[in-house]
Amino acid sequence: MTIADSRFLYLYICSKPFISRQPSILDSPIEYLKGIGPLKGDLLRKELNIHCYRDLLEHFPLRHIDKTKVSLIEEINYQTEYIQVTGRLNDIRLIGDKRTKRLVAQLTDSSGTLELAWFQGISWVEKTLKEDEQYLVFGRTGFFNGKPQMVHPEIEIVQAAQTGGKNFLEPIYPSTEKLKARGLTGRQIAKLTYTLISQLSEKDLPENLPGNIIQKFNFPSRYQSLIQAHFPSAIVQYDRSIERLKFEEFFLAQIRLQLIKLERQHQSKGVVFEKVGNLFNNFYNHHLPFSLTNAQKRVLKEIRTDTARGHQMNRLLQGDVGSGKTIVALLSMLLAADNGYQSCLMAPTEILAQQHYNSLTELIKELPLEIKLLTGSTKSAQRKKVLAALADGSVHIVVGTHAVIEDVVQFKNLGFAIVDEQHRFGVAQRAKLWSKASIPPHVLVMTATPIPRTLAMTAYGDLDYSVMDELPPGRIPVTTVHRNEMARASVMDFVKTEIEKGRQAYFIYPLIEESEKLSYEDLMQGYQQVKSFFPEPRYSISMVHGRQKSEEKEVNMQRFVSYDTHIMVSTTVIEVGVNVPNASVMVIESAEKFGLSQLHQLRGRVGRGAEKSFCILLTGSRVSADARERINIMCATNDGFKIAEKDLELRGPGDIGGTRQSGLMNFKLASIVNDKGLLENAKAFAEHIVSSDPQLTSAQNLPLKSFLISVKGKTVWSKIS
Ligand code: ADP
Ligand code: MG
Repeated sequence: MTIADSRFLYLYICSKPFISRQPSILDSPIEYLKGIGPLKGDLLRKELNIHCYRDLLEHFPLRHIDKTKVSLIEEINYQTEYIQVTGRLNDIRLIGDKRTKRLVAQLTDSSGTLELAWFQGISWVEKTLKEDEQYLVFGRTGFFNGKPQMVHPEIEIVQAAQTGGKNFLEPIYPSTEKLKARGLTGRQIAKLTYTLISQLSEKDLPENLPGNIIQKFNFPSRYQSLIQAHFPSAIVQYDRSIERLKFEEFFLAQIRLQLIKLERQHQSKGVVFEKVGNLFNNFYNHHLPFSLTNAQKRVLKEIRTDTARGHQMNRLLQGDVGSGKTIVALLSMLLAADNGYQSCLMAPTEILAQQHYNSLTELIKELPLEIKLLTGSTKSAQRKKVLAALADGSVHIVVGTHAVIEDVVQFKNLGFAIVDEQHRFGVAQRAKLWSKASIPPHVLVMTATPIPRTLAMTAYGDLDYSVMDELPPGRIPVTTVHRNEMARASVMDFVKTEIEKGRQAYFIYPLIEESEKLSYEDLMQGYQQVKSFFPEPRYSISMVHGRQKSEEKEVNMQRFVSYDTHIMVSTTVIEVGVNVPNASVMVIESAEKFGLSQLHQLRGRVGRGAEKSFCILLTGSRVSADARERINIMCATNDGFKIAEKDLELRGPGDIGGTRQSGLMNFKLASIVNDKGLLENAKAFAEHIVSSDPQLTSAQNLPLKSFLISVKGKTVWSKIS
């Protein structure tokens, strides 16, 4: 395959939409569907992001229930979740005052009475309800004043319900209060989906999986699977269809990632770092403050090989907190400089950028190398200087925040870009980096803490992958304990003894949103409290939080780094990267409010020196089961790889590390937590297909190719309006 060929396919599939593709009925605007119209169409767009027929088809049921079953009202108890009952409706009335206004009605069958209630769309519902009619009602039950109640039920007159083409297994669709209030209940959505599906034929939903995969897994066709996913004829068929659709989601995503990767590998040649030169050797032999761990050496070798091949490197470096990623970053940048190229190192916060800048400056002070800092708060005179120096090539390394990839920043010859501790760096931002030079620079993305394997495979599946699974020698594992608020005094005493031994301590407060007034006050109170236990002048305290100007943060940080202060009171702004090896205790206040990976990342701030370190998780006495589990895990292990897996299990893939933005994580049916096996299979097949038939020209891959071309960009474009 030639370079041009591969790029052609890549552009076709991964970039902007192809204008003259065949129109498909699935692209029809949703309001065109019988029974929807402009008003409901608008609501569907706003509430459920359903814009066209395809979106509705991919709005899958939450589950199916056997709606041939009608229960008696007396069967409702505290364990009942969803139930279907039928009865006569009466006593429809508005109650409550302006604030608590609601519409209620009583539904009575031979066994008892159920109250129905509406809080939204009241006037509309009121108009449609008829006294004394026999209704079929479905919904989630609860109890109000000891009596069974159903809020915002799905409700329809019995005869009408019976003409709805009842299925043995009826799909339950997610809806929203607003939609329900406009009559778009889950049941209505089922009807609309039914209408849609009856308009579709097999040719509207052509097969997209290669023939050998279908055969191997004995998958039903795509057309059959989509129908069965909504209106199953039996449980077995349903399960097989769902399995196929999940596989399809993973597989298509993996194919795209593999194509991106392939394209990049074949793209115009990458910068070549031919030699290991003086800078690297000089530093390695004379200035390296310790000997590298085997893991560090291995990763450096990988980087060395990657950057010498003439292809652009795109590598994800996974390492636990404290595994020593920074020095790997530095050595790679020296390699770049040895070959006459500039490097940039990007950090997620100014504090961290500043700290990297300081420690790198210190490490390379004997080398003939120019290093500069560039962040959002770099003053304009200085900024101008840095920009000019980057453009004329007199600066070799720039350390900064995202400010480094702003359009105004021009490099003479950027050859190496490192993204540190970065969860928030999506594919789009990475792409921005690639456009910084005519030959795209090598890119190394370093994670703050490990991320679960399945997440790495999806969110970073287009990157090569290095793991540093070894901590520098001599580290004593951090001991983590859980303490109740009531034990605060003894916790403070413990911290005091550590400080007396010459150590330093962190107190961390949960300030999730820096703008949150309440937690800001908590922090100030916390500060006063710490101060009362550790009075001046005997003790001195630094404080850092998001409302401070960056110079103020920096001064406070530096005082702590240089052991000018004993204690650092801080919010999570110090979460990543900060390195003060003399700090041996961390007290995390309201630890129940933190997520697992955040706790682990915070804890990584201690245990960096040769001393035994402690992490104390303080909570109130009432802690939810989830939070308790997080805390137990923290107390049980220091292994970031294990914690990452647990975190994913507990939280679900929703928004781990903000990777959702990558757009590669939005699976409708598949779950990277529950369907790991499918993902592994899908990845293996995708890799094999793209490497053996990159043009997808073989007969069995043709359906896949035409599908990719037909949907290219569609999801993106249909949602912009
Ligand atoms: P992280 O991977 O979390 O970014 P750092 O790069 O900040 O870790 O390294 C953590 C600490 O370990 C630093 O103080 C660093 O100097 C030290 N360190 C890194 N590599 C080694 C090594 N091979 N031997 C001893 N100490 C090391
Ligand atoms: Mg680091």
